[in-house]
Order: sequence, then C-alpha cells, then structure tokens
Amino acid sequence: MGKYTLIITEKPDAAQRIASALDANGKTSKKEDNGVPYYVAKRDREIVVVPAIGHLYTVTGERSERNYYPVFNFKWVPRYAAERGAKQIRVWLETISKLAKDADMFIDACDYDIEGSIIGYCILKYACGNKESVSKRMKYSTLTKEELEKSYAELLPHLDFALIEAGRTRHEVDWLYGVNLSRALTIAARDWSGKYATLSTGRVQGPTLRFLIAREKAIRSFVPTPYWEIKAEIEIDGTTFEAEYEKDIIETKSEANAILNECKGKDGEVEKIEVKQFQQLPPTPFDLGALQSEAYSLFGYTPMRTSDIAQRLYLDALISYPRTSSQKLPPTINYEEILKNLGKAPEYKKLTAELLAKPELKPKEGKKDDPAHPAIYPTGNLPERVLSDQERNLWDLVVRRFMAVFEEPAIRQSMKVHINVNGHRFYLRGRRILKEGWMRFYGPYVRSEEVLLPPIKEGQKVNVKKVILEDKFTKPPPRYNPGSLLKRMEEEGIGTKATRADIIQTLYDRKYIRDERMVVTDLGFEVMEVLKQYCPTVVSVKLTKELEEKMDKIQLNNEKRENILVDAVEILKPAIEELKEKEKLIGEQLSNAIKRARLEERTIGTCPICNSGKLMILYSRKTGKRFIGCTNYFKKLCSASFPLPQRGTVRPLGKNCRGCGWPTVQVKLKGRRPWNLCFNPKCPIKEERMKKIEMSNLQQKSSG
Ligand SMILES: [Zn+2]
Ligand SMILES: [Zn+2]
Repeated sequence: MGKYTLIITEKPDAAQRIASALDANGKTSKKEDNGVPYYVAKRDREIVVVPAIGHLYTVTGERSERNYYPVFNFKWVPRYAAERGAKQIRVWLETISKLAKDADMFIDACDYDIEGSIIGYCILKYACGNKESVSKRMKYSTLTKEELEKSYAELLPHLDFALIEAGRTRHEVDWLYGVNLSRALTIAARDWSGKYATLSTGRVQGPTLRFLIAREKAIRSFVPTPYWEIKAEIEIDGTTFEAEYEKDIIETKSEANAILNECKGKDGEVEKIEVKQFQQLPPTPFDLGALQSEAYSLFGYTPMRTSDIAQRLYLDALISYPRTSSQKLPPTINYEEILKNLGKAPEYKKLTAELLAKPELKPKEGKKDDPAHPAIYPTGNLPERVLSDQERNLWDLVVRRFMAVFEEPAIRQSMKVHINVNGHRFYLRGRRILKEGWMRFYGPYVRSEEVLLPPIKEGQKVNVKKVILEDKFTKPPPRYNPGSLLKRMEEEGIGTKATRADIIQTLYDRKYIRDERMVVTDLGFEVMEVLKQYCPTVVSVKLTKELEEKMDKIQLNNEKRENILVDAVEILKPAIEELKEKEKLIGEQLSNAIKRARLEERTIGTCPICNSGKLMILYSRKTGKRFIGCTNYFKKLCSASFPLPQRGTVRPLGKNCRGCGWPTVQVKLKGRRPWNLCFNPKCPIKEERMKKIEMSNLQQKSSG
C-alpha cells in the first residue's frame, strides 16, 4: 500500500459503515491485524478506517501505587497501563500505531461529543504520534451512506478543541474525586477490619445517593394518617358511573358518616354541566433523557438498557446519534426523504403518506439544544436484519415520535357534571378526544383514557344506586426508580447524558441501593453518614451543580480547564485531610456497616420451625453446597434446613409467602428474570417452579 488516509472511529461497526459508504463501489475489504479489525476503502485515494473500542486511554496517578491518598498528580496513559483486565487494548493500540505510520492524512470520525472527541484526540496524539494538530474532523449524526459521504466531502479543518478540553476536564476532575474519596473509604475500612471491600463514591455518585437517602428517610419516618373518601354509584340510562364527592379528603369518620347518612336513599339532580375543550400539543422530539424515561415507563427498560439498545440502533444506521440533549430537528435532516423511506415499511405506509400530503412539514420542537447533534430521529433506513423485540420496540417508539411531532395538536374535551344529592355535591367526570391529531401517529404509546358519558341535561334526575365510604391512609412519597432518578439528576443538573445511567448502575453494584423501586441499604446510609459528617462539600448538590455548569462553559470556550482543576482540588483537599485524620473512626463505622450488610444479605427471616432462630443462607462444609439453615442449629436447638438451587444468586426477599407465611427468597439466574421462591416443602400454594428447581437439582446431582 502507498500513502493513504487514516480514519479513526469509536466502534468497529461505525468503521465498517464509514468504509463502505466511502468506497467508490460500496465494497470494502475487512482486514485484521492481531485480531484487530480495520477496513480499506478505495476511491480517488485509498482510505483505511480503523476503530477504537471506546476509550483506549484513561487518567491515572503519576505514581503507580494504589494504596495511598491523597493524589493530585495525574497523567493520561493507555488503559492497559492503569486497569487490570484491559490487556486487549495494548494489541489494539499497536495496530493503530502501525497503520498510522504509512498514513499521510488523518481524520477523526469518532462520535461528535465530549466522549468521542477525547477518544479521537488521545489516539491521534499518543498512538499516531502527535497528529492531533493536523487531523481533520468528520461530523455526522447518522451512519447513513448519504450523510457519511457528505461529511467526508465537507471535512472540518481541525478537531474541536473546546470539546476535547471539556472532555479532558471531566475525566480529570472525576478521577480526582473518585480516586481520592474511594481510596479514603476503602483504606479506612480495610485497615480497621483487615478485610477488603470496594467502597466508592464520586463527584456525582455522592449527591445522587443523597437524593435517594432523603427520600428513604421521608418514607421511613412517614406516619400514615387515616382519612375517608366518599363515592357514589350513579345510574344514567341503564349504565352505572362512579361519581366522586366534592371533598376528596374527609378528615374524620363522624363527618364521613354524617354525609353518608344524608345521601343514602336519596336521588340526585344534575345541577350544572361544565364542558371544557383544550388542546394537547404534540410531544417534542426525543433527547436521550426523554427517551430513557419514556422507554422506562412504557417498556420497563432501565436507562442503561435503553442507552445500549439506542446505541445498537444507531450503529445499524436506523436512528440518529442518541447521546444528544437536543429537542430540535433542523430541516437539513430532510424530513420528506425520511418519511418517504419509512413509508416503505407497511406499518408506516399510511401515516407517512398523510404527513407527506401536508403543504408544509414543521416539527414541534423543545427548548433544549445541543451544539453537536439534533434530537433523536429515525434515519429512514429499514432494518437489514431481524431486530430483537427490545430493539423493535425502541425503534418503533422513535419512528412514531418522529411522525407525531409534525402533526396537529389533539383536541380533547373534559366534562364535569355536578350532581346534587340532598345538598351534597358529587362530580361525574367524562373525557373524550374530539380530534386525535398527533395521537394517531404516536399510536400505542399515547397514555390517555376516555370516559364517555351518555347525553345528559341540566335539571335531569338521576338514580343514586349506592353511596360508598372508603377508609384510606395517606401514602408516603414514592420510591425512586431508575427512570425517575435519572430525571431528578437531569433536573438538578448533575452528571451528563453519557454518564447518568452508569452512575445509577454503580450505586447498585456497590450495594448502596437495591430493587427496582430503590431501597437504600444500611451500607448506603453509612457511607453517606461518613461523607456528610466529615466532608459535606463533596456530597453537596449545589457545589456539584456549580462545577457542572463551569465545565459546560469550557465547551463554549468561556472557561479554562486549569481553573476548574484548581477549584476541584480546593474543594477536595480539606475534605480528604479530614477523612485521613479521622481514618480510624471512619474505618470502624464503615467496617461495621459492611459486616451488617453481609449478614443482612444472608439473613432470610425468623425460623418458622423454632420461632426464635434466624434462617440464613449457609454453605455446607462437606459439599460446599448452599442451603438454608437455622442459627439455633449451632446451639443444638433446631435442625431446620432446606435445599436451595445451586446456581444463580439467592437473596432474601423480605416478604412472606402468601400461602404459608414463611419468609421467601428471590432466585436469579444470569440472563433470566428473577423469581420468588417459597422453600417450605409443605406450602399449600407451592408453584410449579419449585418442582422444576428440584428437578434441575436432581439432574445436576445425577450428572455431577
Ligand atoms: Zn430454627
Ligand atoms: Zn409458601
């Protein structure tokens, strides 16, 4: 090969797409060097496209020891030099360096955002030999052939150094926080107990845990107060409707009873009918956060999963770049072309034709913008392979949202019928859609219930069939779930669209929280106690937000990286000194919490056989197999013992079996949905599942 152009991408799939888009014949040859793939495209000159696999470089301490803190001096190194298990990176970088030698032109084609920019920059600077200053930049938001061709024809003359600076700063600041605070906690606990457990906290992780703890405290200290609710069943033209009483909360039982007695057996009269019409505007185009929340509430996908699926769809050139905070769709993306192409799919044929027949296509847009990418939209390409159910759901959601934003508002009508029953007022509410507008396009994802009322006139008498009194209790505030927590982080302005989902996952991994409806564990509480007590500045939501805002300014060239690093060290230094000084105290506090957490993980509940011991998950000394045993066994007071499935993870569920009242456990096998298990062999509602488990245990026994 002679001299050629070297293009760097962030992922292998993107490399292949770019190579085949740029090849004159649309055919690219895949090569491999030491297992590292790269692609060769031929046109007026030869092009070699080599992918990264995400970040190949990372921040690390200037010295290599891991067991001390504080550390304020850092450097960028290949990941294999800083992380265990990153061996593959070495070979990868060798291949890139080799390919760079014979290249005479360099193009960074990594994703156009903070993360992508820093990935491309490090490779060009370190692996290609200081090519960051001569490299050109490809900017695109979809991996379609047309857009890739165009972005290659209109190369940006240099890298986006403001984005790179912003990326460097984030990684460096996050490293300073993460490494110092996590080491302080981990070392304190280890030196006290002699046992190792990873404890971590970070710049965003701490404040996020704080929201969860505030909510957890509100839930635990919540005292439900009783109140009463009154409803009436009202019959109109042979159909029964439920009407609500004018006061939705009645505070005393005597008042409720009085109302009930006065209404019993009385007829009602329609006193007034209020009809309101209102417009419901189409939704705005998806940015990543909105897509994550919508997918969580519609399909139950965690933000992390949605972001992974969206990434897949992007690499398949089905949707545009998902890590965007824009709610805008510029006309340059060519609405007509996208709709025409989508119309080739039978399920979108009619709807797209309707949109295309409009005199003008103008999307409803939101306020948020992103300098690098538009909102998430479908490219118009149809899948070239069979999509998984999850991929199809998300793609359909993006397509329908895209169509919906071009449509008219929906027109809805609400009706409130005032019914007088012996001087008491009841309301009957109706809701209907007069004009569907965009809702027809968003289809299955519209959440709106219609309640149709029959024709009704003022002065009309109606039959009150029944007046119902219900005892109620006020409810504690709801628990966060991955969707609502992500929203809260966004609202508070902490973290970035690229990192929020990972931070939530880390809280689970560290066992600070559990369950989908998030419960903070004792360990989570304890870590926060320590941080709040000894270094409140690092878990301050306000300070975190301020730092976040300053970092955003770097992207716009309004702030300097150096200033922010100085700020960060100024916040951290006193905090870490305090942690160091109180190391013993903190170590004791944390070690005890870890010990309790480990015990808590294994304790299932009170033993139903002896009623005094605790049932625990134990391991047989002889066979190594796990089972459930009673703590009274060791005092020779109880011999209760029950088998457990040997595969997967088992944890106490904290709930008792509906059938027999025994405590239960949750079993989770990798890649499968967890299920709840009652291990009582005599349980009356024992499900088929238990039999299946026994079967699989038997099979295991007979095969092993
Ligand atoms: Zn027992
Ligand atoms: Zn049971």
